[in-house]
Amino acid sequence: MSVNKKRPARVRNTVDNLYRHLMGACEATPDKPAVIELADTGDGVATTSYAQLRERAETYADALGDLGLDVGDRVVLESDTSASAIALYLACCRLGLPFVPVSPETPTKRLLSIIDSARPALYLQTERGGREGIPPEVGTARFGADGLTVTRAPQPRVRHRREVVPTDPAYIIFTSGTTGRPKGVVMSHRANTAFFRAVLELGLVAPDDRVATTSPLQFDFSLLDIGMALGAGAAVVAVPRDRLRWPRRFLGFLRDAGATQVHGVPSIWRPVLRTEPDALAELGLRGVLFCGEEFPLAELRRFQALSPATRIINCYGATESMACSFTDVPNPLPEDLERLSIGFAHPGAELMLADERGRPVTRPGVVGEMYLRGPSLFSGYWNDPDATRAALVPDPLNPASGQIVFRTGDLAHRGPDGEMYFRSRADSQVQIRGNRVELAEVQRRLMDFPGVAAAVAMVVPGSGADPVLCGFAVMERGIPEPGRRELRAHCAEALPDYMVPQELQVLEELPVTENGKVDRAVLAAGLTTPT
Ligand code: ADP
Repeated sequence: MSVNKKRPARVRNTVDNLYRHLMGACEATPDKPAVIELADTGDGVATTSYAQLRERAETYADALGDLGLDVGDRVVLESDTSASAIALYLACCRLGLPFVPVSPETPTKRLLSIIDSARPALYLQTERGGREGIPPEVGTARFGADGLTVTRAPQPRVRHRREVVPTDPAYIIFTSGTTGRPKGVVMSHRANTAFFRAVLELGLVAPDDRVATTSPLQFDFSLLDIGMALGAGAAVVAVPRDRLRWPRRFLGFLRDAGATQVHGVPSIWRPVLRTEPDALAELGLRGVLFCGEEFPLAELRRFQALSPATRIINCYGATESMACSFTDVPNPLPEDLERLSIGFAHPGAELMLADERGRPVTRPGVVGEMYLRGPSLFSGYWNDPDATRAALVPDPLNPASGQIVFRTGDLAHRGPDGEMYFRSRADSQVQIRGNRVELAEVQRRLMDFPGVAAAVAMVVPGSGADPVLCGFAVMERGIPEPGRRELRAHCAEALPDYMVPQELQVLEELPVTENGKVDRAVLAAGLTTPT
């Protein structure tokens, strides 16, 4: 053991390690800001330079190395995005320890189920973290700017590996699986670096940018922000999550931190557009990148009207490939535009469209399922070979090649130039009274009602055999709520009877999940007993 302790695994001569990618700018611009965050005093911002970030990462790597962990041992990190959390991510990359980020908002039960599945060697929380009840077989430590304090040493282990190779997992993101059990998406260093190198070619982040990240650390969107910013030699601006609830404080923080570009799910903008339009206009952001779900067109139009010089990027993709495409939103949006394009996959990857039998779909307008081909695919779902086999499948267009592609579960159609238009999840197609219903179509119709800012259609189990179709709408600020009868008549004008929501509600706002996507479970729970 003592020999091992002196020689923790280290990245050697490979460019395909995420650490190298993220710290690439450190040599050329060590003094440039790498991370900007809320100062400890709670007022103003604190800046960590690239050199300081590297030093902190090295300190953490030494401390982790001393714990005798082997390449492949998982480390759960419970934290918001911060310079220290990023430094720990870097340290884990350096040592080949798959990083499992978890947000402090995560309920204990969910954290324990992640721990039960990931079987980490070590669980880390901040000095101020209040989490208790970590199972005794897992080592525990706290981290601060000065280093690690080990509260329970990881169980002794024999080290079998000393090299970190590019196919090793860099991180595991636990997403909400449809089974109710969190599903671990395993991402390798190689997949990540291939992705980030390709995205660099798109030039979405300039070295002088300050990229605000708003998603919780457990959502790979935050790792995308960190990778895009640091990989370009720019700065990450870690927006405190509680600011998102207070539009004025959110925008105030962006201003104080000098953010030039903001990444986040569309829902972060809803309160801003409603209550702080002038402050948004004044901020004059250079860029906004959204991901995770569609940005309602009415809200996008409003954004563009307030901040016409902002470049807005629609980023489409799933955790299983970090992300897939980055498409400029037309500015201004044409009046008659019905849906945004998700364009083409990033350089070095291709989105294909196939029908239910795996045959290519090439004609514009015809819906098929998207498959992604390229080097940035995940390795598999953690300890779940069945789910892995269902998502990583032989190339449907050339199964003999041995090439494995990602079956996205997303339906789309092509436009006249071959560009893709996201339609819905393949599983959001439901049967109502024997009729096939695409929930996205119902949603779209609700959105067409004058003054509707956002809408959702979903089904909930009913008392009979058929599920009940429900529609929810949020109005733009200052627009009076329409009656249900009016909304229903609007739907019935364009949709067949079985596609007209039986339950219709106008809400003040749409509930969102921890990751900021529409929370369908909360919507369902708030329904009056369906008929
Ligand atoms: P991500 O971390 O990229 O949001 P998730 O794994 O949480 O990924 O969810 C992925 C799913 O979210 C996609 O398969 C797609 O259904 C939906 N999605 C992601 N981005 C977009 C987008 N820009 N437009 C429409 N739907 C999107």
